[in-house]
Amino acid sequence: MVMATATIEQFAPVTFNLNNNHTLTQVKKDFFLDNHQNGAVLGKHLIGDALRRRVESIDHESCEPGDEDTFFVGDLGEVYRQHMRWKKNLPRVKPFYAVKCNPDPQVLQLLAALGTGFDCASKAEIEQVLNMGVDAERIIYAQPCKTNSYVRYVATKGVKQMTFDNADELRKIAKLYPEAELFLRILTDDSSSLCRLSLKFGASLDDTENLLSLAKDLGLNVVGVSFHVGSGASDPLCFLKAVQDADTVFKQAYAHGFDLKTLDVGGGFSGDSFEAMATVLRGALDEYFPPSINIIAEPGRYYVSSAFTLACNIIARRTIHDPATGESSYMAYVNDGLYGNFSSIMFDHQQPIAKVLSAGQKILFDSPTAEGLPAGIGGGIEYSIWGPTCDGIDRITESIRFDHELDVGDWFYFEDMGAYTKCSATKFNGFSDAHDVVYVCSEPGARAVLGL
Ligand SMILES: *Cc1c(COP(=O)(O)O)cnc(C)c1O
Repeated sequence: MVMATATIEQFAPVTFNLNNNHTLTQVKKDFFLDNHQNGAVLGKHLIGDALRRRVESIDHESCEPGDEDTFFVGDLGEVYRQHMRWKKNLPRVKPFYAVKCNPDPQVLQLLAALGTGFDCASKAEIEQVLNMGVDAERIIYAQPCKTNSYVRYVATKGVKQMTFDNADELRKIAKLYPEAELFLRILTDDSSSLCRLSLKFGASLDDTENLLSLAKDLGLNVVGVSFHVGSGASDPLCFLKAVQDADTVFKQAYAHGFDLKTLDVGGGFSGDSFEAMATVLRGALDEYFPPSINIIAEPGRYYVSSAFTLACNIIARRTIHDPATGESSYMAYVNDGLYGNFSSIMFDHQQPIAKVLSAGQKILFDSPTAEGLPAGIGGGIEYSIWGPTCDGIDRITESIRFDHELDVGDWFYFEDMGAYTKCSATKFNGFSDAHDVVYVCSEPGARAVLGL
């Protein structure tokens, strides 16, 4: 029986058998590619192996309630590779991982060991990071509109770095924590991003003079400027404009007698467009900010999105006959949905892509027929995929075609499920919001820093 509540930590060995299994042959072929490629290929293999082992251990005809629950496989090696990629492309910029994106304890442990800082927005996040033994100086409380009692809490813990973007917040900080080191968060043009943040946070450049003047009057310590170009940003040039605006505010702050030391370029990076964004950002930083200025960032999605794969079980199926064509299609009901780990569909505007993990006894992970057929050309069998709650909105996929006849007990998998998924899941309708993560680690470097 599978433990439904306990976290299973399974770190498959880095050494592996090269037999004539297709995936392993692939590993061997790619073994001499550069390290990044090599680790990614090994990662795929370890993830596939972990998925297969877990799925094969569950018999939906006889298992206990919850045994067949959705689960994640997290590859800590992928988080490590993203960190190396960051250091290569943005050597000047120290990352403070945005905990809200995925507060997975192993991910935080790895990043702590790798020396990143942490961007936190609540007492619980700050506590989680401090409890790992991370120094208060490695935390930025990057929430411009903070809870009074939380400010009192961080004052007792010495978490000094925090952001603000309005006059009321300055008065709050003057009263509760006048020693705080303040970052003035400015507005950005985030119109090209998936999740716009500037609707809610950020001072416009029309207000920054007044805020700096008030901070001076209140005797507060402004040490930097921060911005966020929006989560899931797609236009690299938004970084250039934001850096230019930050430069303007630095000059204003100098004129008010503040000795600004740090620029915080926020989050908004994604794995797909990282190099393009890093190129623009690097150029802008070098043009506007001398080496004496510290640069930090608050990446969230970038670090974790690709590191987690989700597996869900088909719990029910409804057959739909179309009398016009004589064709049958299926509604597949799975044990995770919009109120669970697919909360990213609602909150993060994602469209996770279903692939077939198992059909009957066959494991199809990473094989050509695991994937849906290209849209618009028909063929195969059509499915819509639905979550387990009683709400009609709870639909993961409207239409996808597979070459397989799928039934109750079969499994789907979804890649790139590490960001804004589990952390915003609910328990609506009595379904779990605390699914297992099976960990693997495809990078010896990550295993070494974690002491595995
Ligand atoms: C959410 C958030 C982040 C992380 O954003 P990503 O797009 O995931 O990189 C960073 N900083 C702040 C202040 C945030 O609110």
